[in-house]
Parts: sequence; structure tokens; C-alpha cells
Amino acid sequence: MVALPDENDHSCTSRIDQFRQDKRICKLLLPCPDGAPPYLTPFLLNACFPSETHQHLVFGLSMADCCIVPVYGTTEILPKNDDITPTSKRQMRKLERKRAIDEKKPTKEADHKKKPTGYEFKGRPLESHFVMPSNYNSMILPTFDMDPEPMTSNAKGITLMTSHGRQSLTPSEFLGVLGGLQTASSCVCMYDESTKNRELAVDRTADFVTECQQWLEHNDYAPATKVWTPVVGGPDLRYREKSIKYALNLGESFGASRFAGLALIGIHRCEEASYLLQYCTSMIPSTTPVAVLATTDLEQVLECMAKGVDVVGSDLPLNLAKSHIALCLDLNMDDKNEIPPPSKRARLEVKSNWTLEMSNLDYSGDTRLLSDSCECYTCQNKHTRAYIQHLVTVKELLGEILLFLHNLNQMLNLFQVFNNALQENRETQFFQLLKDQLQSTKTLH
Ligand SMILES: [Zn+2]
Repeated sequence: MVALPDENDHSCTSRIDQFRQDKRICKLLLPCPDGAPPYLTPFLLNACFPSETHQHLVFGLSMADCCIVPVYGTTEILPKNDDITPTSKRQMRKLERKRAIDEKKPTKEADHKKKPTGYEFKGRPLESHFVMPSNYNSMILPTFDMDPEPMTSNAKGITLMTSHGRQSLTPSEFLGVLGGLQTASSCVCMYDESTKNRELAVDRTADFVTECQQWLEHNDYAPATKVWTPVVGGPDLRYREKSIKYALNLGESFGASRFAGLALIGIHRCEEASYLLQYCTSMIPSTTPVAVLATTDLEQVLECMAKGVDVVGSDLPLNLAKSHIALCLDLNMDDKNEIPPPSKRARLEVKSNWTLEMSNLDYSGDTRLLSDSCECYTCQNKHTRAYIQHLVTVKELLGEILLFLHNLNQMLNLFQVFNNALQENRETQFFQLLKDQLQSTKTLH
């Protein structure tokens, strides 16, 4: 379990101050498996989420699952049985039997010829090929940084695990895919995070990014796409430090129009995630944006916010919906000023409801909404806890969809309230409000 940001921890003050000064906006990176926002058609997306949420949301697409396509090479024509001249009676009988079988199964032979001869990465325009509205930010990732299989390199380039096994990409192929996607706002360059030889992995990552940078100098691949340079090194501080230095130097080579910032890879997988994040962010100049591609829980999301991370990856809205859990955060920053504080016990009871397990039979007669103050599609359309509990019990997909819409709205509200609090110098109050809710839950359960 990671530690929650402490209000007395001022080590990241300069980064947060810079964030405030530059009026930067902390954004949620939402993984979109198979190249589409979960459950959302463009119509539903625009209908459910008002335009002001666009600035807090980045759709993440993974090359490993949406840019891999089969290749159908020229089918090799095998010699037909007829071409073989039987030299004995035994061979003749064998050939006749084979012909009889072949005649019975003509379609099977045809299907066999259609099998792909291999797979390749291919970028197709985001707007026409994927369900990705153009008015939202999008980030192309090699993978979502959540897979247990790390990316490694071989003689051809960097390999990553796809739905069709391990496939490799060279820097020019990577940029070719990016060019094909056309309108992505930013991309994270490929990286090697092999655990066997971390030092070599750091060097190979830098080599790959350097080669990409050189290609970009001479070719105009995806001109609107900015590049996040990856920082690898696992839990080892020496390698992280080395990787950060490489990434910053490469950032300078890319130039301001191409450089998005530094992407810290695999932080959530390390045991000392909290310390590692603190260490890395303190080494990066406060003017350089930082992205953390994946987090495991709400505590890590808050921790990234407290450390001045610009883009925070989280699949909580989808994961919680699939687990039939509704997020119900109290984000009313003015509550404490207007209403006298309740007794400690009463406060714990209220705050313990930041998540609701909708599979719980207790909700079967509950006619309340998931959250009274929520403005999401689910709550605005008066879908009660009892209704959602019923949908979840009968395994109706609509239950997950309604929970996802609510959870995503809650997470976007969290980012919006944080960004507002930051501009009003009230981030300490924001973290205290959230800290109270998360810790009271731990106390009660
Ligand atoms: Zn709601």
C-alpha cells in the first residue's frame, strides 16, 4: 500500500507551484482497449460528458492491441498430387485415397490458403478507423503499461506482447505506424524494460528514442504528435537516474514542438512506488511535464496529483464497473466551511460510502441514486441503486455500462476539483478531504 500525500510534505512544492504558475491541467489517461473508449459511442460520449470535461481526459490507445493486423502473403503453391507420378501400386492406392479425401473437403483447403502468413503493425486514421472523437486528446502507447509481460529488445528492434504473440518494431516502423494514425495528440516512444539486465535496457531504450529523433529530423511523420520520452530502470534508483538524464537530453533534441515530456514507466509495479515517484519527480525540472501511464488504485492517483504529474493513467472507472462497484466520492470542498463538523463517528459513517458494492443484496430495495449530487447520465436519468443492483444480479451488461458512466464522471470530477483547488491554493484542503474518506473506510472495514 502506498502512503497518502502528507500535508507536511513540502518536497514537491516547487513542482506544484510551477504547475499552478503555468496553469497546467492534470489529466486522466483512460485506457481504451481495442481502440475505442469503453462502452461509449461518439454520440453517447458527447451526450453524457459536457465539453468542459474534454480538457481533463486523454484517451489512451495501445499499439499492442489496436495496430496489429494479419498479413496475407502470396500463398505458396504446393505441388498437386496429380503432378506426382506414382511409381508403384502402393503409391497409386495412396494417391487415390488422398484424392477422394480432397474432393470431399474442398472448402477446408480454401480456408487453409486464407490463413495469415504473419502479422505487422499498421496505423490507420484514428477518426475513421477507431471510435475516437477528434475533439478529445489521445495518447498512443506501445502498451497500457499494465501487462505483466515487459517489453524487451532483440536485434530487430523492441518487442512487445500482442494478441498475436510477441512482435517487434524498429524505430522507422514505429514512426510509420504513428504517421498512419495521423491525428494523435501525443505518443510514448517504445522502451525496453527487461528485468534481466536493467542497465542494458536503459541504454537500448535511449538508443531507440535517439534513432526515432533522427528519423523525425528528416521525415515529417505525424507532425501534430508530440513525443513522451520513456524513463525505465525498474525499482533501481541509479538506473532511473540514468534514464531520466537520457530522456531529458533527448527531449532537448526533439525541440519544444515535438517534446511532450517524460513518461515514467512501470512505477506502479515497484514495491516502493511512493518513494520512487517522489525520487523521479524531484529529479525532473518542474517545467517539464511528467506522465505516469498506469496506477493501481485511488491512493496512487492522488499521490501522482500531489507530486505534480501532468497525465495520470487509471483504469479504475472500467475496472470498478466490471467489479460492480460504484465510486461515490464526496468532492464538496465547501462542505466543511458551511456545515459544522459532525461527530467523529457520524463522519466515519458518512465518509465510508465512497464506494458502493452494487452486487450487495442490501441495495435491492434502495430507491436512492448512486450519489445525490452526481450529474452523470446514470444519476440524471434516475437509475436507482435498486435498479442497478437488479441489472448486476441478472448479469445484464447495461448494469456495467451505467456504472462505468457514473464512475468515469466521478473520476473526471475528481480531476476538475483538484485543478480548481490548485488554482485557488486549496490543494491541501483537497487532499485532506480525500484522505479522510479513504482512511475512514480502512478504519471501518
Ligand atoms: Zn452518477
